[in-house]
Amino acid sequence: AAKEEGKDRGLLYEPAMELEQVRLQAMRERIAQALQQSRLQLLFQPIVYIDGLPGLHGVAGMEALLRLDDTHELIEPAKFMHVLDDPQLARPIGRYVLDEALRCCQSWMRSGISIPVSINISTRHLLHPAFFTDIDAVLDNYPDVMDVGFGVEVTETGPSMDHARAKIVIEECRRRGIRVGLDDFGTGSASLSHIQKLDIEHIKLDQSFVRDILSDERNMAIAAGVITTARMLAKTVIAEGVETAEQGDLLASLGCHQLQGFSISRPMPAEAVPGWVAGWVPPASWGSLVNERQS
Ligand code: C2E
Ligand code: MG
Ligand code: MG
Ligand code: MG
Repeated sequence: AAKEEGKDRGLLYEPAMELEQVRLQAMRERIAQALQQSRLQLLFQPIVYIDGLPGLHGVAGMEALLRLDDTHELIEPAKFMHVLDDPQLARPIGRYVLDEALRCCQSWMRSGISIPVSINISTRHLLHPAFFTDIDAVLDNYPDVMDVGFGVEVTETGPSMDHARAKIVIEECRRRGIRVGLDDFGTGSASLSHIQKLDIEHIKLDQSFVRDILSDERNMAIAAGVITTARMLAKTVIAEGVETAEQGDLLASLGCHQLQGFSISRPMPAEAVPGWVAGWVPPASWGSLVNERQS
């Protein structure tokens, strides 16, 4: 009967849907509380060069990844994706991430390691009228970080990146020397021609193409096409989700610039970063694969 009534009101009533709403709201409240109690946390995952570009020991940068610090475990964003774009919480979360990431980068500098840091920005925060108030506040607090390198990753999902404001926001970032990258490339609506119009420095080839790159010819074709075209447009390509050495070797031979994934390192606490960077040695195979491609 409830279903029938629902239909009359133009929506389908499902108890499961209501339960899902309750669950989403509960998670929203947990995150709001975690913000208050400083129980959000960042882990950092390295991005490394394939073709021996200058970067410190071959490390291009560290990407900050958010976690909810629960008493027994660190909870990953998959459980709270909806909260990252929440109208009330997107900005406070974004400000926490900005401040914490730059604070960590500055502390790595103090320990003698200059390594660029990048963060993920929710579209909600990116398009918020106070976004540059927040950006400029952290740049003032951590001025040295700009000498090392600071990048933001935005996602192409939804119509928002077609938004006229997105272009302005990217230009404003670039004017401040902030690098802008497009995350999860290939899963949304952005095309390479779209990217050419935006002042984006790098694109991140989505994990879904990398995962099956060795077994699925279509994913391999997409990866190869994206890498070739991006290179011609003078954009840097970072492959994410590289889980095996074989995937890394194949991406290297296709001309990908940088790699990120569990085969290089899992995300780590900030304190572990200087030691990891100092110890990183790129696999010898990458050098020969890159040379093969170039000759
Ligand atoms: P993303 O920015 O595309 O980040 C890559 C995700 O893939 C991360 O998941 C990372 O831990 C995971 N990953 C890295 N290497 C591998 C691999 O080899 N295999 C597999 N299977 N996974 C790998 P994580 O940390 O759970 O983050 C998920 C997403 O949540 C991120 O995707 C990003 O969209 C979002 N996110 C993370 N931190 C933040 C943040 O501070 N702010 C905002 N707005 N979004 C964030
Ligand atoms: Mg990212
Ligand atoms: Mg991604
Ligand atoms: Mg993602």
